[in-house]
Amino acid sequence: MKGLRSSLGWKLLISYLVVLAVGIVTLTLAAESVIPTAFNRHMAGMQMMMGGQMGMTMADDLFTNFRTAFTEALLWAAGLAAASAIIVSIFVARRVVTPVRHMMRASRHIADGHYAERVPETSNDELGQLARSFNQMATALEQTETMRRELIGNVAHELRTPLTNIKGYMEGLIDGVLPPEPQTYQLIYREADRLQRLVSDLQELSRVEAGMIELHLSRVSVATLIEQTAARLRPQFEEKGVSLHLEPPPQLPPVPADEDRIGQVLLNLVGNALQYTPAGGAVTITAVLHNTEIHILVQDSGIGITAEHVPHLFDRFYRVDKSRSRAGGGSGIGLTIARHLVEAHGGQIWAASPGPEQGSTFGFSLPTG
Ligand code: ADP
Repeated sequence: MKGLRSSLGWKLLISYLVVLAVGIVTLTLAAESVIPTAFNRHMAGMQMMMGGQMGMTMADDLFTNFRTAFTEALLWAAGLAAASAIIVSIFVARRVVTPVRHMMRASRHIADGHYAERVPETSNDELGQLARSFNQMATALEQTETMRRELIGNVAHELRTPLTNIKGYMEGLIDGVLPPEPQTYQLIYREADRLQRLVSDLQELSRVEAGMIELHLSRVSVATLIEQTAARLRPQFEEKGVSLHLEPPPQLPPVPADEDRIGQVLLNLVGNALQYTPAGGAVTITAVLHNTEIHILVQDSGIGITAEHVPHLFDRFYRVDKSRSRAGGGSGIGLTIARHLVEAHGGQIWAASPGPEQGSTFGFSLPTG
């Protein structure tokens, strides 16, 4: 009974009945105060017209009959109005309460982990809009949940490979299959190093994805940034036999940016270009002014990328050639971090390639003001 009384349908009915009762009481009071005076005035007029032929009893009789008829009409009207209040409240309650109940049930299901739950979007009114917003929220939750599950799966997968390798080398050492010499230790060291890099990449990823990075903006010269990055990586380029060219940008305005973070993005792109360009190839870094943005481009003559992979390069853990990338210590997180860092600066990052073995170009934009 308590549940029924607190239900929306019941409250609606009561509110209708209250309005109805107020209407009837007001009408009765108004009638009580107005009708006798009006009736007497009318009777007096009629008596004058009929020359005083109408006796007092007849007038009283008429008045009583009129009053009974009025009360009867009022009762009928009240009954009919109450019946319509019940019907209307049932109808309105159905229209209002049913979608609300659907949402209640769906939210409970979602809370229990059934993220595919949706509610019907039947109308265009506020309730329909609420249902649409509810479904949008459910979709966002479902996507987050899928991403979370994928992330755990990916992290487990990424951790498994180096751990299995370390375990294998150790078993080899214990069983005497592998010789206890520096080369074996080197192999183990490399796997542990990869694990360490993966963990710090993951830490960085979680920070950038949560928007927890603080940008220390200053006016950065893009030309200097390119020179510094090139200077840091030049020894590795020379070691591999890949040439590195800087196309000196024309007079570019400084950009408001976090120098370390943008340096990290550029280092990542140039590092990738080196990694995916075989000996004898070339990498070029350029910058151009595009309206209110500076575009920084890293072009290589390396292995290139098939068109179908290009849109996914900035997704977490995405690697075109898993074995090749992993052999180079890559976990497929670098570009995801780079994307977040560039977007935090209000810029965009992109990749393009004419196809396999035809090199690629990675670029990002930074607003100048
Ligand atoms: P990784 O650490 O594996 O390099 P990234 O996020 O930096 O991860 O890159 C993701 C993937 O994009 C790489 O695994 C590689 O397949 C592809 N990629 C990145 N840069 C290049 C490039 N310059 N040429 C060809 N492929 C590239």
